[in-house]
Amino acid sequence: MSAIKMDGKAVTAKMNALSRERAQRLRAQGIEPHLAVILVGDDPASQTYVGSKERACMNAGIRSTVIRLPGDTAQETLIEKIQELNADKSVHGILVQLPLPMHLNADQVIEAIDPMKDVDGFHPINMGKLALDLPASVPCTPAGIMVLLSEYDIEIPGSHVVIVGRSRIVGRPMALLMINAHATVTVCNTRTPNLGEITRQADILVVATGHRNTVDASMVREGAVVIDVGINRFEGKLYGDVAADVADKAGWLTPVPGGVGPMTVAMLLSNTLDLAEMQRG
Ligand code: NDP
Repeated sequence: MSAIKMDGKAVTAKMNALSRERAQRLRAQGIEPHLAVILVGDDPASQTYVGSKERACMNAGIRSTVIRLPGDTAQETLIEKIQELNADKSVHGILVQLPLPMHLNADQVIEAIDPMKDVDGFHPINMGKLALDLPASVPCTPAGIMVLLSEYDIEIPGSHVVIVGRSRIVGRPMALLMINAHATVTVCNTRTPNLGEITRQADILVVATGHRNTVDASMVREGAVVIDVGINRFEGKLYGDVAADVADKAGWLTPVPGGVGPMTVAMLLSNTLDLAEMQRG
């Protein structure tokens, strides 16, 4: 591998140390930073993610409460639970683990969260503020990517950023953050013709498709920064969305695992502390 490995674990360790200090400062002021996580159903991947969020909170000195609801929970019951947490002054951040079971309307559920407690930044008010370059809760995965790029001194203003994927969780907020950071941004989706022609123009290429090998070395410019967001389980191993041969062509590359994934959890802690500090006034 010739590309410089962008070590999400090392950057996360640094960020988490900062988060611990921030949590201590809040506690010294009599505020216990508190994240509430709602998990509906028993999807194994979601349970793993929630478990790692709980552990990360504990290590940072952030209180976490996980509310586990059965898979057949009614929409009204879930929304009532969110309203309870909205009204609970001891709770600073609320996260509903996605995906939700099919019978639930995720858009309505997210809109029920108080935007001031929307730690994931998925509420339309926070997305709108991000689009307008106003202060907002920013979705953790793209926010973590921005921190990682900054830690590796990657210049964003003036660069051409190509994002493959336009989801609300990754691609869209990533595009907005990059626009706000003065990049020239191209966003691709499944209907983009000649994907390789576009990805080869990228100084910074972010790939978030959920499919292994979406981008191979022939689709990457020599020396480009490649951010592999994907987490794909295949034959018991974890793979990103980027093929292994990209490591020989890119200048910088995030590994999977150990790249973007840990940054996402670190940003969740940081966002929770932002909200606790903001609610303190
Ligand atoms: P979604 O399925 O919601 O979105 C995937 C996007 O990729 C869609 O916009 C889709 O286009 C586009 N796409 C899929 N295949 C292609 C293709 N061949 N060419 C061009 N565009 C394509 O996924 P998410 O954004 O939620 O997640 C993406 C990946 O990132 C997953 O592997 C997920 O596990 C991972 N992930 C990792 C996180 C981390 O912390 N590391 C956090 C969140 C996600 P269209 O809109 O046309 O369908």
